[in-house]
Amino acid sequence: MVGCRKAFAPASSGSSEVNSEYRAPPLDPEEVDLSERIARTEDEWRDLLSPQQYHVLRKKGTERAFTGEYHDLKAKGAYHCVACGNPLFSSQAKFDSSTGWPSFWAPIAEGRVRTATDTSLGMIRTEVMCNRCGSHLGHVFNDGPPPTGLRYCMNSISLNFEPAS
Ligand SMILES: [Zn+2]
Repeated sequence: MVGCRKAFAPASSGSSEVNSEYRAPPLDPEEVDLSERIARTEDEWRDLLSPQQYHVLRKKGTERAFTGEYHDLKAKGAYHCVACGNPLFSSQAKFDSSTGWPSFWAPIAEGRVRTATDTSLGMIRTEVMCNRCGSHLGHVFNDGPPPTGLRYCMNSISLNFEPAS
């Protein structure tokens, strides 16, 4: 049987979506080797990630505002790349942007994310990607709070929150 992987999912399976999402084990911030890059083919990513994750992380999609898991989360901890475990943001740099997406004024450390110019949708924006696996995380804007004045506008679905112990 080919292509029937989702055939048995009940039509009204609202809450089961989250469980099917991939979550890479969070890496210890002290032990991340940034020279180590995760390279997977698009087929491998498609098999690993849920369809929603694949759409955002590999096809540079955007989750709908206020629908993600973390936009309103205030707990202490670290936000890791859901695809490779790379620690990306600390709750200490999270702020309430009222945009419906989790927002941070800085990454957790130098070199954890990389950026690129994004000219899609008729806008000039700065795309933010995980520097370890290249997954799309969101965009960074110049209208954030002190001390940086930056607003890293992230998709919850790209992140995996690890509470502080
Ligand atoms: Zn990653």
